[in-house]
This record gives sequence, C-alpha cells and structure tokens, in this order.
Amino acid sequence: MNPILSALPTTVFEVMSQLARETGAVNLGQGFPDDPGPLDVRRKAAEAVVDGWNQYPPMMGLPELREAAAKHYKHWQGLDLDPNSEIMVTSGATEAIAGALMALITPGDEVVLFEPMYDAYLPLVRRAGGIPKFVTLTPPHFGLTEEALARAFSPKTKVVLFNNPLNPTATIFGKADLDLLADFCVRHDAIAICDEVWEHVVFDGHRHASVLGRPDMRERTVKISSAGKIFSLTGWKVGLVMAAPAIMRVLSKAHQFLTFTTPPNLQAAVAFGLGKEDGYYEGMRADFQRSRDRFAAGLRDLGFAVLPSAGTYFLNVDIAPLGESDDVDFCRRLVTENGVAAIPVSAFYAEGAVKNVVRFCFAKRDATLDAALERLAARRPR
Ligand code: GLN
Repeated sequence: MNPILSALPTTVFEVMSQLARETGAVNLGQGFPDDPGPLDVRRKAAEAVVDGWNQYPPMMGLPELREAAAKHYKHWQGLDLDPNSEIMVTSGATEAIAGALMALITPGDEVVLFEPMYDAYLPLVRRAGGIPKFVTLTPPHFGLTEEALARAFSPKTKVVLFNNPLNPTATIFGKADLDLLADFCVRHDAIAICDEVWEHVVFDGHRHASVLGRPDMRERTVKISSAGKIFSLTGWKVGLVMAAPAIMRVLSKAHQFLTFTTPPNLQAAVAFGLGKEDGYYEGMRADFQRSRDRFAAGLRDLGFAVLPSAGTYFLNVDIAPLGESDDVDFCRRLVTENGVAAIPVSAFYAEGAVKNVVRFCFAKRDATLDAALERLAARRPR
C-alpha cells in the first residue's frame, strides 16, 4: 500500500463531524452552513435532474457554465477569461487542487506551502512526488515576509500552493503580500496554485483580488473556485479552475482521468447562480457577517479571547488564557463533555504547530449559535 496514504489519519473534519453525530453535539467543526442554500439555485438543479441532460456532459464542463463563469469573474474580479480555453469544471475544489498538483509536479520538484494550511494539501503534494517547503505564517496578521519566502524558494521551486482568504485563520492577504508572492514566483519561474474558494465569503466591504488578475501572474496562476462556497451548498462539490491555455491543457489531462466530468444538473444550476444579481452576493455576505458578529459578541461576553475574522465561515479562539495548551485534547473534551464540536488548529500544521487556537464555524442559524454559546459557558474563563 502507498505509505503516504496508509500513514494518514482520517481527516479532522470527518472525525469531528462523526463525534458530533455520535454525541449529539452542536457541530461548529467542519465548515458548512446549516441554511439549505438559495432556493432558486436548488430548484434549477431539481429541474435539470427531471427535465435536463443526465448523461455525460463535456469533459471541460457545460459550455453555459464556462460562459457564466467568464462573465461572473469579469464582473466581480475584472478577469478576462476565454470560456473555451481557460475555464474547466471539476468535482469540487479538492479535485482541482489534486489534479493541478498531479499535472504540474514532476517528482523531486519543490512546492512552497504556507502554514497553517488546509489538511489536504500536504498529502496531495507528497503523493504527487513534490518536496514540501514550508513558510510559517504568524499571528496576528499571518502575512508574508521577504525573509520567509527567501528561505522557502529555491531554483527547484516549481509550484506554490496559496490559499486566500486563508482557512483556518480567517485572514486575507493584502496587496503587499500578493506583490511579494508574485515577485518570488516570477523570479523562480514558479506556478501559483491559488485556492480562492472563500473569494465571495468576505466581510466589512472587502473585495477579493485574484492572483490571476495580475498581469505578472496571468500566465503562471491556476485559480480555483468553489460553487459550494459561493452558494453555501458545500455538498455539491462543483469546482471551477481557471488558467492560461498552456497550463489548462495539462490540467485537463489530469481531470480527464480523475473524474472526467461533474453532474450536469448541478453544473446547470451553478451556471444560473453565477448570473444572479449583486444583491444575492451582498446579502449572503451580510448574513454571514451578522452571524460572525453575533457569535463573536457571545464568545466575548463569556470572556473568551476571540481572534478577528475577515472572511470564511470561521472564528478562532485563543485557548491559552483558559490555561489550555493542547487544542486537540481541548476539542475532544469540548465535544464529549460540553456538546460542542470545534476544530483544533494544530491540524493545519505539519511542523511547529500552534496548539492554543481552536476554530469554530459560525455559518449557522442564530438558534444553533446560541445553543453552542450556552454550552460553551461551562468553559468560560474564571
Ligand atoms: N473546508 C471544510 C472546512 O475547512 C472541510 C471540508 C471537508 O471536510 N472536506 O471545514
């Protein structure tokens, strides 16, 4: 058996959701909203199942979805994308990331990763034969520095795997960070795989800037988006990949033998959704922002040390003031003794893990958040 995979534990998201199901805990672990998602988009999917095409769609994705994506990203991020040669539909962003790593890495190539990082990244990089080089981001800004990048990049750097907005820290990289990243990628002739799945889930009036929108990065960026995050339908697993034609040709070779296609009915519904008026997107953000503020205020009232959240579904709490120094142990006790599931942030590190931060998903109804707060009161600092 492959030792990289056989040595892996089950992903922390599945472990915590399973524990929450077993114990009846309020699940603020795995990131998913408890709202069923926009009715018109779901109706489109249902209609497409009943009346639409249910055989293999084109390998690159439904033409109507690729065209809708091109219009959508022109409107929201100023990108000029050719729907025929620069956009591909995948079965979720995770397939897109796995496929991009398979397509771009030759065993022995170095891959720059930023910690904390989403737990799928490192095993996928290793399985593709990549040699990981870590940049550790540090609180409170989790920004990039010239020194840290200089340590990680080398003449062997082929790929950079970059997540912005960043899960789990709920931070957004600013222009200076992107300038620095682009400068290093250009100098080292590296390709940036940019996981931008949280691009629409940003708060306080922020507007997402895609790395693909930079002229200096246009030919060396793979942009990855997720309909699951855009429409709060995380189980749909419809991903979008965007890259210049020379890169896309190779990405499509991985996709054609990984999944080949994605359910056409969901693609049709996503095509419809991407054309929704701005108000839908603004409303979605305002709703999540309100939930963030409600949960943050509740936690602060209980005396918890809440870290800022600029985007994503997540809020982090520093548990050091509670006298806690092991986030995994804390989360285990929190779910079994107090009935609230959360994610230990150390799961996002391969080395030098931060062990005093716990991630909560606030993308929930008021009643769910309030029930969690009631239970969390038992752990309030005294
Ligand atoms: N992206 C989700 C999170 O960060 C997890 C998705 C999954 O469980 N695969 O919570």
